[in-house]
Amino acid sequence: MIRLTSAALLLAAFIASPVAAQDWRLVIHGGAGTIARENMTPERDVEIRAALTLALETGSEVLANGGTAIEAVEATILVLEDDPNFNAGRGAVFTAAGRNELDASIMDGRTRDAGAVAGVTATRHPIALARAVMENSPHVMMAAGGADQFSLEAGLEQAPPEWFYTQERYDQLQRFLARDLSDASDLAGADYKFGTVGAVAIDMEGNLAAGTSTGGTTGKLYGRVGDSPVIGAGTYADNRACAVSATGAGEYYIREGVAHEICARIRFLGESPQQAADFVQAETLELGGTGGVIVLGADGDWAFSFNTAGMYRGMAEPGSEPLVAIYGDE
Ligand code: ASP
Repeated sequence: MIRLTSAALLLAAFIASPVAAQDWRLVIHGGAGTIARENMTPERDVEIRAALTLALETGSEVLANGGTAIEAVEATILVLEDDPNFNAGRGAVFTAAGRNELDASIMDGRTRDAGAVAGVTATRHPIALARAVMENSPHVMMAAGGADQFSLEAGLEQAPPEWFYTQERYDQLQRFLARDLSDASDLAGADYKFGTVGAVAIDMEGNLAAGTSTGGTTGKLYGRVGDSPVIGAGTYADNRACAVSATGAGEYYIREGVAHEICARIRFLGESPQQAADFVQAETLELGGTGGVIVLGADGDWAFSFNTAGMYRGMAEPGSEPLVAIYGDE
């Protein structure tokens, strides 16, 4: 298992080049997991690629027009949160109690300001709420009912539970609740979470930002919070090093402190985004955690790294068509 996933990790290496002055770059993910060709219909493959492309185009427009990395990260994630194909906003997974409880975070690499929300239930765009916490509150992280209340008072768009509901995710919960705990293949074969979304960007001023949004994991218990809203685990941005957004088995990503650890390796050891990401991914896998990360360095160098069969992912930069990929071998 470990050997196989390490091979996938190697396959995930893309050729990355530094960004030139006045350029920008945007890297995104839409979740990692057992995403193999045999599990995908051709229609779904096309739909996912179109969704990733739309998100990249939306964020690119912001950056090409001189917008900030924070603005681009938020604009990109807003698109993915509205798309029911992803486990964020509309289309989020269900908790064991049959609810959608959403987590999101955002971080500005220029100032290292950050905002995060956990277990929110009524905001259409959790990433916008995370940004509101960063910009309009004295806090970094707000949770559950209090965060819902803050959202209302901040005038953010509210959404009823039906907005987040999709039949596919609901059916996934029913399968999860009925799973045979004695059958390892049932657990290994099922992927109860993938579809978390994230973005990292560098703007024309050379500032970095990162953001992540998710419904968490199917069947999560009351009050469970994953890595996505935890600054330093699922999200981190620091102009001195890099911007990171992670996706995967959140419990392990929290324990490893994945996003901050990658930036620390780049900052203190001078590793490239790919080297740092692969190293930290391998260590997280040693704990038992599968998933992936996107990384963008302060010089624009970038990386995807994942130890799962696939990761929905993409990259956009000036002067070329957006790059979009799903499987480990592309
Ligand atoms: N990391 C997310 C969580 O644990 C799930 C995912 O990325 O698929 O909540």
